[in-house]
Formats: sequence, C-alpha cells, structure tokens
Amino acid sequence: EKYMVIGAGILGASTGYHLAKKGADVTIIDRNDPGQATEAAAGIVCPWLSQRRNKKWYRLVKGGAKYYPELIQMLKEDGEQETGYRRVGAISLHTDDKKLDQMVERALKRREDAPEIGEVTRLTPEETKKHFPPLADGYGSVHVSGAARVDGRALKESLLNAARKSGATFVQGDASLAFDNNEVTGVKVNGKTIRGQVLMTTGAWAKPLLEPLGIEFLVSAQKAQIVHLELTNTDTSKWPVVMPPNNQYMLSFGGGRIVAGATHEDDVGFDNRPTAGGMHYIFDKALEIAPGLYDSTLVETRVGFRPFTPGFLPVFGEVPNIDGLLVANGLGASGLTSGPYLGAELARLALGEETELDPADYDVAEAIRTVE
Ligand code: FAD
Repeated sequence: EKYMVIGAGILGASTGYHLAKKGADVTIIDRNDPGQATEAAAGIVCPWLSQRRNKKWYRLVKGGAKYYPELIQMLKEDGEQETGYRRVGAISLHTDDKKLDQMVERALKRREDAPEIGEVTRLTPEETKKHFPPLADGYGSVHVSGAARVDGRALKESLLNAARKSGATFVQGDASLAFDNNEVTGVKVNGKTIRGQVLMTTGAWAKPLLEPLGIEFLVSAQKAQIVHLELTNTDTSKWPVVMPPNNQYMLSFGGGRIVAGATHEDDVGFDNRPTAGGMHYIFDKALEIAPGLYDSTLVETRVGFRPFTPGFLPVFGEVPNIDGLLVANGLGASGLTSGPYLGAELARLALGEETELDPADYDVAEAIRTVE
C-alpha cells in the first residue's frame, strides 16, 4: 500500500520519516506556504514547568520531550548530523522567592514520573546572570537541566532527508483530496492523482482540504511574530532557554544568535507581515528582562501561524465516517515539542500498530462539524 502525507512541517516530516523507516511506500507533499509554523518556531523543549492543568495535553508534550534524545540518535545513525537539537537546560525567572520555591516544588513533583527533567536547581540572581549575561539584575531562577532547544528548520530538513534515504518521495505542490463518496482514495497534486492512504498534517491551512467532503474542520491560525538578534563575539551556543515571568521567552543558538518572542494574534488571517506593533510588543518585554540585548543586531524577523483546534488540545486519528484518511493537527504553541512524537504515533496508527497515546483522548470528532 501507498501512503501520502500532505503537509511537511514538523508533524508531516516526522510522520513521513517514521513511515519510511518502517519500510512503507511514502510520498510527502508540501506547498511551502509562507508562515509555516515549523519554520518560524522558537524551539523550546521544556514542557514540565507549564501550569496548564490539561492532563491529555501534558501527556502529549511530556512524551514529546522524552522522545527527542531517541529520535536524534536515530537520525544520527541515518547520517543526519545537523538536527539543530541541543540539551542546554532552561532557567525559569522570577523576582519573588516564594514563586521560585513553588516552581522548584512543581518541577520536583513532575520529575517523579519524568526523570528526563534532569537536575532541578535554585539559582541566585548572580548565578542566574552567569548563565545568561544580558539579563537585568535581580532575577533569581530555577534551572532545569533536561530542557532543550531545537532549530525547527534544521530538524525538519533532517527528517525529510532521512525519509528520502529510506525511500520516501518528496513532491512540492498544492494538494487536494481525491475521494469517492465517503472514501478518500488519494491525493490530487500538480495535475496528477496518486492513489493511496492519506495522512493530513496541514497545520493552520487544513480547513479547505476537507470542505469538498462536507466537513468543516475547526482549526484556527494564530499569528506569531518573533525576532532573531545577534550579539557579536559572544559564544551563545550553550546558553540556556530563558523563561521570564511573563508569556515571553528567549533562547540562544550558536554564533551569537538570540531568539526572542513572540506575539499571539488571533483573527488576523494569513497576514504574514512583521508589524511595528508586533516588534514593539516583543522588544518592550525582551529588553526589560534582558537590557544587555539593547545593542544586539536585529538580523531577522519571522512570522508563523500556530494551528489551534478546539480546547487548545491537539487531535489525531480517523475522521468520523470517512475512510482512507488520517488527520493530525492543533499542535498550537508547543508543536516543536510534541510534533516529532505525534508524527511517530500517527505513523504507527497508519500501519495498524499500537500507539502509546489513546487516539480517543485526541478525538478528531472534536474538531469537525458536518455541513449539510
Ligand atoms: P506547519 O509547520 O505549519 O506545517 C504545515 C505545512 O502544511 C505547511 O508547510 C503548509 O505549506 C503545508 N500545507 C498546508 N496545506 C497544504 C496543501 N493543501 N498542500 C500541500 N501542503 C500544504 N513549539 C514548541 O514546542 N516550542 C517553541 O518554542 C515554539 N515556538 C514557536 C514560535 C512561533 C513564532 C511559532 C509560530 C510557533 C512556535 N511553536 C513552538 C509551535 C510549533 O512551531 C507548531 O506547533 C508546529 O510547528 C506545527 O507544526 P505543523 O507541522 O502542524 O504545521
């Protein structure tokens, strides 16, 4: 049997890779939309400190973080060296000692069933600043050694390269579904129809694909702007991810590059412009936390669209009453963390293998409305 993956962000790239690794005949199709979430993403892999209480969501992101070292090892064995992943740790900042105590408590509690969190250490403001010199004075922190950062572009490319090495085909184009009544029979792309089992990982752009089947897919696009800065003559390659008390963050890659973001803009459609307001929002918060970035070079702005499904909970599995189609979507703000793992799960589902997560907990029915 043939498998067609539509959408090659982190989710589709991982799905295609895992299918190909297991010997399946796979074609991966992508339209290269500007604003692909994976291309713009910051790259923080540190789900354990989140205060969100949704257990299904936590199980997914926790599984995602845990899966990374194994996946990176697999890719290395496939000859992929530039995966963009590094376990650099994270510091979660606060000026309030009580809040920091609570954070330590939460991290230690979560470590009971997530040893991959690693060492949890309380740092003084002086120690905190040593880890990330541009910071303002006065921020204490909790350091979590198991946190990582990943370059979404590099990881996606490694997955696609490795998938090709295992025999997958990549097609650039705008795909639509071929169907016969309630059965999806394949994919139409570049004037051709390719028959086979379809896996749809099309992120924020998923809606129009299901419309011809009379299905309204409830995915929304949240615009996110983010900036890349550069500090000259500074080795930032091992600096930890920084999580301030607000909803912003900073992380570093090698070569002096610092990423700061991001905005959360609902209902603006697929408008992929960086805006003055967006930049103001990011810089206002980033420079307050890290005034040492004041004189850094602004090297790049990126814009991406986070895909959200209802309840901010990702979905994956079969679409009710439709044969031949599997869908995964809604990775939202944590898809670089969960995407590689969910792709592996989706591949298992397609091949009839047992999954670790229960698809009933991430029911696609929650994200669709049938239009009569
Ligand atoms: P996408 O990466 O958007 O990929 C979907 C792909 O499908 C696109 O390439 C599109 O062109 C293609 N497609 C759609 N329709 C069609 C069609 N009809 N035919 C062919 N191709 C099609 N997550 C974290 O874990 N940590 C972070 O630090 C983090 N930071 C982020 C920062 C920003 C600014 C943004 C935007 C996101 C961030 N995320 C982060 C979230 C993460 O990036 C996303 O959840 C994840 O990348 C979604 O992946 P995806 O594969 O589902 O979608």
